[in-house]
Amino acid sequence: METRHDPGQFHGIKNVLLDIDDTLWENNIFFLQSLEWLCTEARNLGIPDRAATNLLNHWETFNIRWKGYGYDSYESSLLLTVAMIARRAGRLDLHMGLRVKALAWTTFLKSHPIQWRPEVEKALPQLTERFRTIVVTKGNPKDQMGKVDRCGMRSLFAGVDVVPHKHPSCYHGVMKTHGLNAEETVMIGNSPRSDINNAKRAGLRTIYVPHPKTWYREMEPIASDEPPTIQVEHFGEVLKVLR
Ligand SMILES: [Mg+2]
Repeated sequence: METRHDPGQFHGIKNVLLDIDDTLWENNIFFLQSLEWLCTEARNLGIPDRAATNLLNHWETFNIRWKGYGYDSYESSLLLTVAMIARRAGRLDLHMGLRVKALAWTTFLKSHPIQWRPEVEKALPQLTERFRTIVVTKGNPKDQMGKVDRCGMRSLFAGVDVVPHKHPSCYHGVMKTHGLNAEETVMIGNSPRSDINNAKRAGLRTIYVPHPKTWYREMEPIASDEPPTIQVEHFGEVLKVLR
Protein backbone atom coordinates (compact mmCIF):
# COMPACT_ATOMS: atom_id res chain seq x y z
CA MET A 1 0.00 0.00 0.00
CA GLU A 2 1.12 3.56 -0.76
CA THR A 3 1.88 5.27 2.53
CA ARG A 4 3.79 8.32 1.34
CA HIS A 5 1.96 11.31 0.11
CA ASP A 6 2.12 12.03 -3.60
CA PRO A 7 0.38 15.43 -3.89
CA GLY A 8 -0.81 14.73 -7.43
CA GLN A 9 -2.86 11.74 -6.37
CA PHE A 10 -5.34 13.75 -4.31
CA HIS A 11 -5.94 16.76 -6.53
CA GLY A 12 -9.45 17.64 -7.64
CA ILE A 13 -11.26 16.53 -4.49
CA LYS A 14 -14.44 18.47 -3.75
CA ASN A 15 -16.34 16.04 -1.52
CA VAL A 16 -15.40 14.05 1.56
CA LEU A 17 -17.18 10.94 2.78
CA LEU A 18 -16.29 10.48 6.41
CA ASP A 19 -16.46 7.57 8.85
CA ILE A 20 -17.14 8.55 12.49
CA ASP A 21 -16.59 5.64 14.93
CA ASP A 22 -12.87 5.24 15.70
CA THR A 23 -12.07 7.87 13.06
CA LEU A 24 -13.52 11.01 14.69
CA TRP A 25 -14.14 9.61 18.16
CA GLU A 26 -13.42 6.58 20.32
CA ASN A 27 -15.84 3.69 19.97
CA ASN A 28 -14.32 0.23 20.06
CA ILE A 29 -12.32 0.86 23.26
CA PHE A 30 -15.64 0.97 25.15
CA PHE A 31 -16.73 -2.38 23.70
CA LEU A 32 -13.32 -3.79 24.68
CA GLN A 33 -13.89 -2.54 28.24
CA SER A 34 -17.18 -4.43 28.36
CA LEU A 35 -15.41 -7.54 27.04
CA GLU A 36 -12.81 -7.16 29.81
CA TRP A 37 -15.64 -7.07 32.36
CA LEU A 38 -17.22 -10.18 30.80
CA CYS A 39 -13.90 -12.07 30.93
CA THR A 40 -13.37 -11.13 34.58
CA GLU A 41 -16.84 -12.40 35.52
CA ALA A 42 -16.29 -15.61 33.52
CA ARG A 43 -12.82 -16.16 35.02
CA ASN A 44 -14.26 -15.86 38.53
CA LEU A 45 -16.59 -18.72 37.58
CA GLY A 46 -13.73 -20.88 36.25
CA ILE A 47 -14.33 -20.13 32.56
CA PRO A 48 -11.22 -19.03 30.60
CA ASP A 49 -11.12 -15.64 28.85
CA ARG A 50 -10.84 -17.33 25.45
CA ALA A 51 -14.03 -19.32 26.00
CA ALA A 52 -15.97 -16.21 27.09
CA THR A 53 -14.64 -14.22 24.12
CA ASN A 54 -15.54 -17.02 21.69
CA LEU A 55 -19.07 -17.19 23.08
CA LEU A 56 -19.55 -13.44 22.62
CA ASN A 57 -18.10 -13.58 19.08
CA HIS A 58 -20.42 -16.44 18.23
CA TRP A 59 -23.53 -14.51 19.33
CA GLU A 60 -22.30 -11.33 17.64
CA THR A 61 -21.95 -13.17 14.34
CA PHE A 62 -25.46 -14.56 14.79
CA ASN A 63 -27.05 -11.24 15.78
CA ILE A 64 -25.28 -9.12 13.16
CA ARG A 65 -26.77 -11.42 10.54
CA TRP A 66 -30.31 -10.98 11.86
CA LYS A 67 -30.32 -7.57 13.53
CA GLY A 68 -27.48 -5.77 11.74
CA TYR A 69 -24.81 -3.66 13.47
CA GLY A 70 -25.71 -1.61 16.51
CA TYR A 71 -26.07 -1.44 20.27
CA ASP A 72 -29.29 -3.48 20.39
CA SER A 73 -27.53 -6.25 18.50
CA TYR A 74 -24.57 -6.11 20.90
CA GLU A 75 -26.87 -6.04 23.93
CA SER A 76 -28.58 -9.19 22.76
CA SER A 77 -25.18 -10.87 22.25
CA LEU A 78 -23.92 -9.88 25.69
CA LEU A 79 -27.12 -11.08 27.40
CA LEU A 80 -27.02 -14.44 25.61
CA THR A 81 -23.35 -14.80 26.54
CA VAL A 82 -23.86 -14.16 30.27
CA ALA A 83 -26.77 -16.61 30.26
CA MET A 84 -24.53 -19.30 28.77
CA ILE A 85 -21.67 -18.50 31.15
CA ALA A 86 -23.98 -18.86 34.18
CA ARG A 87 -25.31 -22.13 32.81
CA ARG A 88 -21.87 -23.51 31.89
CA ALA A 89 -20.56 -22.65 35.38
CA GLY A 90 -23.60 -24.35 36.96
CA ARG A 91 -24.48 -21.02 38.63
CA LEU A 92 -27.92 -20.13 37.33
CA ASP A 93 -28.44 -18.30 40.65
CA LEU A 94 -25.99 -15.65 39.37
CA HIS A 95 -27.72 -15.17 36.00
CA MET A 96 -29.95 -12.22 36.96
CA GLY A 97 -27.08 -10.35 38.61
CA LEU A 98 -24.90 -10.79 35.50
CA ARG A 99 -27.78 -9.69 33.32
CA VAL A 100 -28.26 -6.47 35.29
CA LYS A 101 -24.52 -5.69 35.02
CA ALA A 102 -24.53 -6.47 31.27
CA LEU A 103 -27.43 -4.05 30.78
CA ALA A 104 -25.52 -1.38 32.73
CA TRP A 105 -22.65 -1.84 30.25
CA THR A 106 -24.87 -1.48 27.21
CA THR A 107 -26.54 1.60 28.73
CA PHE A 108 -23.05 3.08 29.14
CA LEU A 109 -22.14 2.15 25.54
CA LYS A 110 -25.26 3.91 24.24
CA SER A 111 -24.72 7.12 26.17
CA HIS A 112 -21.05 7.76 26.99
CA PRO A 113 -19.67 11.24 26.25
CA ILE A 114 -17.91 11.74 22.92
CA GLN A 115 -14.15 11.24 23.27
CA TRP A 116 -12.45 12.80 20.25
CA ARG A 117 -9.51 11.15 18.49
CA PRO A 118 -6.28 13.21 18.28
CA GLU A 119 -6.41 16.44 16.24
CA VAL A 120 -10.06 15.96 15.19
CA GLU A 121 -11.57 18.90 17.08
CA LYS A 122 -9.11 21.24 15.39
CA ALA A 123 -9.06 19.70 11.91
CA LEU A 124 -12.75 18.84 11.40
CA PRO A 125 -14.04 22.45 11.18
CA GLN A 126 -11.29 23.26 8.67
CA LEU A 127 -12.02 20.16 6.60
CA THR A 128 -15.76 20.80 6.47
CA GLU A 129 -15.18 24.43 5.54
CA ARG A 130 -13.12 23.43 2.52
CA PHE A 131 -14.98 20.31 1.36
CA ARG A 132 -18.58 19.17 1.17
CA THR A 133 -18.41 16.59 3.95
CA ILE A 134 -20.90 13.78 4.37
CA VAL A 135 -20.79 11.28 7.22
CA VAL A 136 -21.12 7.69 6.05
CA THR A 137 -21.55 5.30 8.95
CA LYS A 138 -22.98 1.83 9.28
CA GLY A 139 -25.33 0.58 11.97
CA ASN A 140 -28.62 1.48 13.54
CA PRO A 141 -29.74 5.01 12.46
CA LYS A 142 -30.92 5.86 15.99
CA ASP A 143 -27.54 4.91 17.53
CA GLN A 144 -25.43 6.62 14.92
CA MET A 145 -27.49 9.82 14.71
CA GLY A 146 -27.45 9.98 18.50
CA LYS A 147 -23.64 10.17 18.50
CA VAL A 148 -23.59 12.73 15.70
CA ASP A 149 -26.03 14.87 17.74
CA ARG A 150 -24.00 14.41 20.94
CA CYS A 151 -20.76 15.46 19.27
CA GLY A 152 -22.00 19.04 18.93
CA MET A 153 -20.65 19.43 15.38
CA ARG A 154 -23.56 18.09 13.35
CA SER A 155 -24.11 21.45 11.63
CA LEU A 156 -20.67 21.10 9.99
CA PHE A 157 -21.79 18.14 7.89
CA ALA A 158 -23.57 18.50 4.56
CA GLY A 159 -25.24 15.15 5.26
CA VAL A 160 -25.27 12.12 7.55
CA ASP A 161 -25.97 8.79 5.86
CA VAL A 162 -26.43 5.68 8.00
CA VAL A 163 -26.11 2.53 5.90
CA PRO A 164 -26.61 -1.11 6.93
CA HIS A 165 -23.23 -2.14 5.43
CA LYS A 166 -20.43 -0.27 3.73
CA HIS A 167 -20.55 -2.35 0.58
CA PRO A 168 -19.51 -0.76 -2.75
CA SER A 169 -23.21 -0.56 -3.70
CA CYS A 170 -23.87 1.48 -0.53
CA TYR A 171 -21.16 3.98 -1.56
CA HIS A 172 -22.76 4.21 -5.00
CA GLY A 173 -26.10 4.87 -3.29
CA VAL A 174 -24.65 7.65 -1.12
CA MET A 175 -23.01 9.30 -4.13
CA LYS A 176 -26.23 9.09 -6.10
CA THR A 177 -28.29 10.56 -3.25
CA HIS A 178 -25.95 13.55 -2.92
CA GLY A 179 -25.16 13.93 -6.61
CA LEU A 180 -21.42 13.26 -6.19
CA ASN A 181 -19.07 11.74 -8.71
CA ALA A 182 -16.31 9.37 -7.68
CA GLU A 183 -13.51 11.40 -9.35
CA GLU A 184 -14.17 14.34 -7.00
CA THR A 185 -14.78 12.35 -3.82
CA VAL A 186 -12.55 10.81 -1.16
CA MET A 187 -13.47 8.39 1.65
CA ILE A 188 -11.72 8.74 5.01
CA GLY A 189 -11.82 6.15 7.78
CA ASN A 190 -10.13 3.68 10.12
CA SER A 191 -11.53 0.41 8.79
CA PRO A 192 -9.48 -1.32 6.09
CA ARG A 193 -12.46 -3.46 5.12
CA SER A 194 -15.37 -1.00 5.21
CA ASP A 195 -13.82 2.43 4.70
CA ILE A 196 -10.90 1.62 2.42
CA ASN A 197 -11.22 -1.56 0.36
CA ASN A 198 -14.96 -1.31 -0.25
CA ALA A 199 -14.71 2.41 -1.06
CA LYS A 200 -11.90 1.61 -3.51
CA ARG A 201 -14.17 -0.96 -5.15
CA ALA A 202 -16.71 1.86 -5.55
CA GLY A 203 -14.05 3.88 -7.41
CA LEU A 204 -13.08 6.26 -4.60
CA ARG A 205 -9.68 7.49 -3.52
CA THR A 206 -9.23 6.78 0.20
CA ILE A 207 -7.38 8.10 3.23
CA TYR A 208 -6.66 5.53 5.90
CA VAL A 209 -6.50 6.87 9.48
CA PRO A 210 -5.51 3.78 11.49
CA HIS A 211 -6.77 3.18 15.02
CA PRO A 212 -4.74 0.69 17.11
CA LYS A 213 -7.95 -0.78 18.61
CA THR A 214 -9.97 -1.18 15.43
CA TRP A 215 -12.60 -3.97 15.73
CA TYR A 216 -11.09 -7.25 14.54
CA ARG A 217 -13.98 -7.77 12.08
CA GLU A 218 -12.88 -4.62 10.22
CA MET A 219 -9.25 -5.64 9.76
CA GLU A 220 -7.84 -7.00 6.48
CA PRO A 221 -4.88 -6.11 4.22
CA ILE A 222 -5.43 -2.92 2.25
CA ALA A 223 -5.69 -3.60 -1.48
CA SER A 224 -2.78 -2.23 -3.48
CA ASP A 225 -4.78 -1.58 -6.63
CA GLU A 226 -6.19 1.75 -7.82
CA PRO A 227 -7.67 4.17 -6.87
CA PRO A 228 -4.85 5.20 -4.49
CA THR A 229 -4.93 4.98 -0.70
CA ILE A 230 -2.83 7.12 1.58
CA GLN A 231 -2.20 6.32 5.22
CA VAL A 232 -1.90 9.19 7.69
CA GLU A 233 -0.77 9.12 11.31
CA HIS A 234 -3.66 11.14 12.70
CA PHE A 235 -6.73 13.02 11.49
CA GLY A 236 -4.92 16.37 11.34
CA GLU A 237 -2.75 15.04 8.50
CA VAL A 238 -5.81 14.66 6.28
CA LEU A 239 -5.68 18.42 5.68
CA LYS A 240 -2.11 18.12 4.34
CA VAL A 241 -3.10 15.32 1.94
CA LEU A 242 -6.05 17.31 0.59
CA ARG A 243 -4.15 20.60 0.39
MG1 LIG B 1 -14.81 3.40 12.00
